[in-house]
Amino acid sequence: MRLGILGGGQLARMLALSAHPLGISVACLDPAPAACAAPVTNYLQGAYDDPSGLAELAGRTDVVTYEFENVPAESVRVLSEHGPIHPGPGALATAQDRLFEKQLFRKLGIPTPGFAAVGNPADLQRAVSELGLPAILKTRRLGYDGKGQKLLRVPGDLDQAWEALGAVPCILEAFVPFERELSVIAVRAPNGNRAFYPLSENTHREGILRLALSRPGDPQQETAETLVGRLVDDLDYVGVIALELFQTSEGLLANEFAPRVHNSGHWTIEGAETSQFENHVRAVMGLPLGSTAAVGHAAMVNFIGAMPEPAAILTLPDTHLHAYDKAPRAGRKVGHASVRTLDGAQLDALVQPLQRLANEVADG
Ligand code: AMP
Repeated sequence: MRLGILGGGQLARMLALSAHPLGISVACLDPAPAACAAPVTNYLQGAYDDPSGLAELAGRTDVVTYEFENVPAESVRVLSEHGPIHPGPGALATAQDRLFEKQLFRKLGIPTPGFAAVGNPADLQRAVSELGLPAILKTRRLGYDGKGQKLLRVPGDLDQAWEALGAVPCILEAFVPFERELSVIAVRAPNGNRAFYPLSENTHREGILRLALSRPGDPQQETAETLVGRLVDDLDYVGVIALELFQTSEGLLANEFAPRVHNSGHWTIEGAETSQFENHVRAVMGLPLGSTAAVGHAAMVNFIGAMPEPAAILTLPDTHLHAYDKAPRAGRKVGHASVRTLDGAQLDALVQPLQRLANEVADG
């Protein structure tokens, strides 16, 4: 069996590494001359909207998936003429636009922060009078890792924020004073079978994920599964999905979903019976899903900007290194390390030296 991936970054690399033991070969298409998935895939260099590159990817593979949600809609249409592409175009189109995403949450009864569509400065004034301040202005499309958003604190911030985001269609969101940020990662097979990973508790800095902790047995697990379950069933979804949630005094609020494997689920490589990468491959190839049960307690620390010395990481107990083979660059995710222990009381102590190493090299 042959899997094609649009995108050749670290997610494609980890998908390929989990596909190989299943006897599945992987090809990927990426515009970079040496993307980090290249050493472990049949690598095609080309633009995501290049018809000949897309045709070649489709011709070399049985099923196509993608590792990022900003795939051009036209490319998905072209690929779907050649064969199956999972997750499907509906999930992708919704995830590409924050307004569509929030409207779907509302339709499905998935609680979400107050929001309003903003198409011009007058809309922004109206939205602020409706939702109050502070609030967050986010571009509808192409935002990631905290990019494409501005916090509005006082009425004087409005014009500058609108201009700074490029005067493009936006949504305004009420600012949520959350207690915790959580994500629930689910996987759904073509026959509708679903499985859910234990919740992940996430810490961001400057909009970038820094730390994710597995939370097996968390009191919010059941509610989170109900919410993401509604989403995957409505979308007739195939593959892994991540739903990001804010825990507030009034319960869980959905922030956004990613129609792909997710950074907050990297700990599943060591901390679950079947990783999110393997389960995504299984789902999109129509194979039986693997168990999502936790194996002990796990944490993941991202390396942003540059990698620490590998030996400094490998000397730490119960710690597993994942370097992405990427050149250092400010704000770039270049690798991560996970800790897994059977003794949950040890997790904090084990993860602290890893966080210190990450902070020493981080630029933010
Ligand atoms: P996003 O790109 O929407 O995932 O936002 C990046 C990060 O900004 C989130 O992980 C939160 O830490 C923060 N954030 C986003 N939206 C809100 C909100 N409505 N209220 C408070 N914090 C938010």
